[in-house]
Amino acid sequence: MKCLKCGSENVNVQAVTHVKNKKHGVIYWLFIGWWLELIMWLFLTLPWLIIKIFKPKKIRSKIHSQAVCQTCGKTWRV
Ligand SMILES: [Zn+2]
Repeated sequence: MKCLKCGSENVNVQAVTHVKNKKHGVIYWLFIGWWLELIMWLFLTLPWLIIKIFKPKKIRSKIHSQAVCQTCGKTWRV
């Protein structure tokens, strides 16, 4: 692989991980979150408990590779 900027062959490719943590915002909890939790606990205690235990955590991770030129320091996505 050649560097796009200086044309050097001295290029390292590395994997970069982006982690996106999807969580509800403060406004959600203020208006919906707390009473939704309350109602769910009151009326659907057992199924809600099961959902809470088995629900997968909403964490998304993306992996992409990035090239780094060792000569001029330019980085770009591959
Ligand atoms: Zn370069």
